Amino acid sequence: METTERKETLTVLRRLISYGEKIFCLSTTLVAPLGDRRLDPRRSTPAVVKAALVMFWTRLPSLNALAQISAPRFWKQWLHEPLASADTLGRVHAALYADQLRKSIFLVYQQLKRNKALPDHHGMGLAVLDGHESHASYRRHCDGCLQRTIHSEHGDRVQHYHRQVTLMLLPAAPPGRPALRLLLDQEPQRPGENEVQTALRLLERVLTRYPRAFDLVLADALYAVAPFFNFLLDHGKHALVVLKQERRDLYLDAMALFAQQTPLLGGYRDRQCEWWDVSDLCSWPQVQTPVRVIRSRETYSVRRQLDGQPELLNSDWIWVTTAPAAQLRTERAVRFGHQRWDIENYAFNELANEWHSDHVFRHDPNAIE
Ligand SMILES: [Zn+2]
Repeated sequence: METTERKETLTVLRRLISYGEKIFCLSTTLVAPLGDRRLDPRRSTPAVVKAALVMFWTRLPSLNALAQISAPRFWKQWLHEPLASADTLGRVHAALYADQLRKSIFLVYQQLKRNKALPDHHGMGLAVLDGHESHASYRRHCDGCLQRTIHSEHGDRVQHYHRQVTLMLLPAAPPGRPALRLLLDQEPQRPGENEVQTALRLLERVLTRYPRAFDLVLADALYAVAPFFNFLLDHGKHALVVLKQERRDLYLDAMALFAQQTPLLGGYRDRQCEWWDVSDLCSWPQVQTPVRVIRSRETYSVRRQLDGQPELLNSDWIWVTTAPAAQLRTERAVRFGHQRWDIENYAFNELANEWHSDHVFRHDPNAIE
């Protein structure tokens, strides 16, 4: 790193740290309680976690790159001990108690909530969850890896990979400020289980710690299954999930009812929309309550690449939800339905493109978690 660039980085870093100390009591409240499974540690857990924080905040691609920040005075002030080697940093993360980190995330949430940085959407709290594959490898594997066989012209090969289900809170925007998006928790998918099972384990834990953080959970079409809907209903929450033709009875019944309904005209962003909305559908008896299906046919204009002329395109969205119309009007349901993409754009894509999480920093199930 060039000297001026390094100086600027350190200046921004110091400001970020002092903000974290002031608002969140970063060192004393969030990091100091953290521990790990080592019996005879030479480097303290907080110092290791604080080094990793610097790695992420300065957007470095690896633990090794961290050692190249040559700033002895900074490290001494920040860690109160020498910077651990890349190998030690990796080993300690493999031994960290993940649930203590989760507790610290909860404290961040609590403080943001107190500071009114996480308002709900007119009485409704929103969250989205989705599964995501963090990395895949033919060579390295660990006992947390999932496996699949990849068929190719050169024969079959076993590929190892990790998948997690992640939950993101989607608060409304505070007055005059952009909305924050907060990753609350994630749960590794275990060998032999499907993504919804992983998601239910995640939700069970999240709802114990955050019983009132959200009322409605957004998810993709994979989650249009009765166990997911019933689990949320049992916990006093609602689901809003993409509906595809695979859920045949409900889909066909909803389409038949839409055909008899005059659509409501509305707008989403710069799109003109036709909305259909039918409640009390009993064609999905496995779900404890009748469900509601909403369709949004959206027309928007794009410039054709070929000749630059405007062209009108359509997209058609269908969602199934348990949220009643009195609590969630059509217009807001459509807006929320589209927000399901926030976890792709602001979590998975951003983590990979901006925070180097397209690879693992240490291949170990606990370090990944
Ligand atoms: Zn692995």
